[in-house]
Amino acid sequence: MRLKTLEGMDVSGKRVLLRVDFNVPMEGGRVTDDTRIRAHLETLRILRERGAIIGLVSHFGRPKGKVVPELSLEPVREAVKILTGWEIGFCEECAGEIASKRISEMRAGDICLFENIRFTPEEETNDASFAEKLAAPYDLFVMDAFSAAHRAHASTEGVTRFLPSCAGKLMEKEISVLSEVREKPGKPMVMILGGAKVSDKIKFIRNMLDKTDVMLIGGAMAFPFLKAQGKQVGKSLCEEGTEHIASDILKTAISAGIKLILPVDLVVSDSPENRTNASTIKVDDMEDGLMGLDIGSETVDIFSREIGKANTVLWNGPLGFFERAPFGEGTKRTGDAVCRRTVKGAVTVLGGGDTAAAANLLGFSDGVYHISTGGGATLEFFEGKELPGIASLYEQ
Ligand code: AMP
Repeated sequence: MRLKTLEGMDVSGKRVLLRVDFNVPMEGGRVTDDTRIRAHLETLRILRERGAIIGLVSHFGRPKGKVVPELSLEPVREAVKILTGWEIGFCEECAGEIASKRISEMRAGDICLFENIRFTPEEETNDASFAEKLAAPYDLFVMDAFSAAHRAHASTEGVTRFLPSCAGKLMEKEISVLSEVREKPGKPMVMILGGAKVSDKIKFIRNMLDKTDVMLIGGAMAFPFLKAQGKQVGKSLCEEGTEHIASDILKTAISAGIKLILPVDLVVSDSPENRTNASTIKVDDMEDGLMGLDIGSETVDIFSREIGKANTVLWNGPLGFFERAPFGEGTKRTGDAVCRRTVKGAVTVLGGGDTAAAANLLGFSDGVYHISTGGGATLEFFEGKELPGIASLYEQ
């Protein structure tokens, strides 16, 4: 089945509903990180240059179907304006008479951002009559919010029943890169797994087990595995009830011939707040009062050697409590290896959870081939699930 894209799509003078994800971090009414906005600029630029009339719809936070002024998208309009230098309109209502009137007054190349779609309860219930109302002023729906594609909401799936639909440039890239890694990764393939929420990632790991050659496990993800091997983990963050799952994965990995590598040393402290007490110990020297907060440098060296042979790297989850120095060092050094040491032309992909945030904070996001904008959506994609916001973008 072929994905419908903007290629060959006549958008000139057409009224286009563009679903984006402008769910950006904000502090004191100002956008603090515009990565998510920048991710949609190529689609926006193409539509604008080709003379489309563009209505932008996005969610922002979790207002749960109510108007929450702090979750208004109005400040995001400002950020888009600054980033592009274009005039961006704003409309308080996503669907209905006001929205229709606004769209009818716009000319080719005009852009209007509509208020947070989740202020309307019918968005998340995927109410058909709301989706129809949302679609009414438009000729075409362009879905670019990959990160929201795992949700069957009115603005991600519902509208596709009322408008011809296609994928935007970001969506196209996400599907193309992630499909390549999921279906036919260049070998050897190295998976790097970290983060804290082990149970969220089990299906993802299981589904990728027959594709991967090497699994490097760090972060709090490592502790159920170390425990399953009979090691002490002290006070380290170790999600309850995950030890038997880890043990199962260890067995599968051995029988499938996958090289599964766990940390051999850890940066520990008596608490995450106490950085002055941080020291590096061997995994076997773990004590009751200590917490493993990062992988040690010997582990980074072992990980880097494997990364150096990779044609594909898929990385999910930071390898330590990266938000606080010095516990981001293991993630940073591993990130540098992913950017500089892999085989030439290797496909390196980061996605899910806090991985992109870690890459941005630790300064290695520019050297990665693709940073997926999805959290849950990326994980579900790799689980092999059909995402409702993508399924309807294929030719029947
Ligand atoms: P996730 O959303 O599952 O990718 O988890 C990301 C979170 O895991 C980040 O906030 C990290 O600080 C945290 N994390 C990773 N490794 C550790 C660790 N060893 N101890 C405590 N938190 C960790």
